[in-house]
Amino acid sequence: MSISENILKLKKELPKEVTLVAVSKTKPISDIEQAYNSGQLIFGENKVQELVEKYEKLSKEIQWQMIGHLQRNKVKFIAPFVRLIHGVDSEKLLKEIDKRAKQNNRTIDCLLQVHIATESTKFGFSEEEVLRIMKQKEDFKNINIVGLMGMATFTENETQIKEEFSFLNEIYKKYEQMNILSMGMSGDYKIAIECGSTLVRIGSTIFGNRNY
Ligand SMILES: *Cc1c(COP(=O)(O)O)cnc(C)c1O
Repeated sequence: MSISENILKLKKELPKEVTLVAVSKTKPISDIEQAYNSGQLIFGENKVQELVEKYEKLSKEIQWQMIGHLQRNKVKFIAPFVRLIHGVDSEKLLKEIDKRAKQNNRTIDCLLQVHIATESTKFGFSEEEVLRIMKQKEDFKNINIVGLMGMATFTENETQIKEEFSFLNEIYKKYEQMNILSMGMSGDYKIAIECGSTLVRIGSTIFGNRNY
């Protein structure tokens, strides 16, 4: 199936309150244009340089989201235009985003990444750390913490994935001011939606497998 067909199929399938982020990392401009031409306006990338290059080449109508691990020294490159930063996983990073947002006269929407997987390689805060950050969120004048993001363990065990997503949803529900729960990728978005996801990050189901 073509990229446009994949997008239309997904849009039919997803509940209307769930936002679709098309994850275009490693994919060429022409693929993104196809998706854009079928009405997709929100794209996610996980590398700063690639995100900036694509932002420069493509329609300014596109809303770019940073979904990957973000290094502090690279925040300045995306601060002028990024719409949502998903993977915020340290206070130092929040401080840097706040500083760069201010320099650009903007407020940047951010999601706190929560560590829900059993793999230690995945980044994120604990539930207690989320609470601590939310208590001091007024310190970050140029940031809106709009929700949480998490990645489940890479496993076939659906019960485990469900437990991890449900755990994240429980934390999310404690913060009334939050309205985005970013969880679910090509392999697990259906479970994520059952568990309360409001935003899914989907790459290979739209663009095909990545070769790396
Ligand atoms: C690559 C990536 C995705 C999309 O993965 P697919 O399995 O291709 O849908 C989602 N979220 C993050 C953080 C990613 O890095």
